[in-house]
Amino acid sequence: MTVTRFAPSPTGYIHVGNLRTALFNYLIARKSGGQFILRIDDTDPERSKEEYVDAIKRDLEWLGLTWDRVERQSARLDRYAAAADKLREMGRFYEAWETPTELDLKRKKLLNMGKPPVYDRAALDLSEDEKSALRAERGDGVWRFKLDQERINWNDGILGDISIDAASVSDPVLIRADGQVLYTIASVVDDTEMGVTHVVRGNDHVTNTATQIQMITALGNIPPEFAHHSLLTGPQGESLSKRLGTLALKDLREQGVEPEALLSLMARLGSSQPVELRMTLDEIADGFDLNQFGSAPTKFDVQDLFPLTAKKLHNLPFEDVKAQITEIGVPADKAELFWKVCRENITVRGDLAGWWTLFSEGAEPLIAEEDREFISQAVALLPEGPFDADTWGNWTKAVKEATGRKGKGLFMPLRKALTGQERGPEMADVLQLLQVIKAK
Ligand code: GLU
Repeated sequence: MTVTRFAPSPTGYIHVGNLRTALFNYLIARKSGGQFILRIDDTDPERSKEEYVDAIKRDLEWLGLTWDRVERQSARLDRYAAAADKLREMGRFYEAWETPTELDLKRKKLLNMGKPPVYDRAALDLSEDEKSALRAERGDGVWRFKLDQERINWNDGILGDISIDAASVSDPVLIRADGQVLYTIASVVDDTEMGVTHVVRGNDHVTNTATQIQMITALGNIPPEFAHHSLLTGPQGESLSKRLGTLALKDLREQGVEPEALLSLMARLGSSQPVELRMTLDEIADGFDLNQFGSAPTKFDVQDLFPLTAKKLHNLPFEDVKAQITEIGVPADKAELFWKVCRENITVRGDLAGWWTLFSEGAEPLIAEEDREFISQAVALLPEGPFDADTWGNWTKAVKEATGRKGKGLFMPLRKALTGQERGPEMADVLQLLQVIKAK
């Protein structure tokens, strides 16, 4: 069975970049009737916060990306310790005491010599006496995984054949000096023990994947299939890393972006298939194909979410917005008409309130100097309310007869005088909703 996982660290709100990872993994599981695990990568007790765990769940629920189960790394520390022991027994795990400053110095030296800044494995040459001395002086060291210095190959679901020379990669630190287990080993243990078959993540993890493949194999297991999607950039190709903070899913939700808009865009952006609004995750899963995604950075423009959001709203049946319309104060007998009038003239649901203010309080009239006389004549001909579906037709007919105006010269000044806008919904409908007419 296909098993995928989305593995956020609960150290902040998730953003569009994370969503891409979550969605791809969700869709792969969904397409094949498999399982989708929400794995909370919370091995860092200082930075992990419960409020972010809750926020991540809320965001995924909002999008309908439901998980089959939740796993928490903080509850599995004994499993990681067991794996570490195993690697230690195999001679694949060693303690090292260099300080960050020392490591930095080593890196700079290598770079100056034009060499890749790979850890020199000096700790492997320490005698037992030297180790004891370092331990006495500096306390516990970090634990590094000893890579086999050979090429690591895999067929990536997006990038194709990948081959990385392990000699060009530093032996990864898996346990910090304070005993904290790092994500790299935790993820390896989880992916194996939870039966994860496919891992899709950002291409900033490619080197991790290489080392993790060696760890999984060393522990006697078979690595999952890996695929690395490109990272998102801004519309001009600029890095999004600083702006991702403003592209949190919760902010997009607050701005009125509809879940279907976000899902439809993210399921296609960066692929060779066109972006089309889809109303269900089933439809999105049907049209999803990981092979269609390229390795080039993917341009993301938050503005693209709004036409899709508007399109979704245009097609929404009244029943789905009834409660919201009543909530902003539209009387029950006008609610359906109000929706008919507004649905094509809003971008987000929040725009509805503005329309209701316009109808209930009356719009500031927009009257050109040359239309003043015409408008006062027209307003004088307006019958007493309440207005019905025929009022507009009868009224404009009477105005036409009285003033001799017709076509655009008749209708446009009336629209502008009543709504304060040049464009908008059908005036026959608008008139029935207008509670106050300010034009004189
Ligand atoms: N917690 C890791 C991250 O957010 C998970 C990476 C992975 O998918 O393995 O980057």
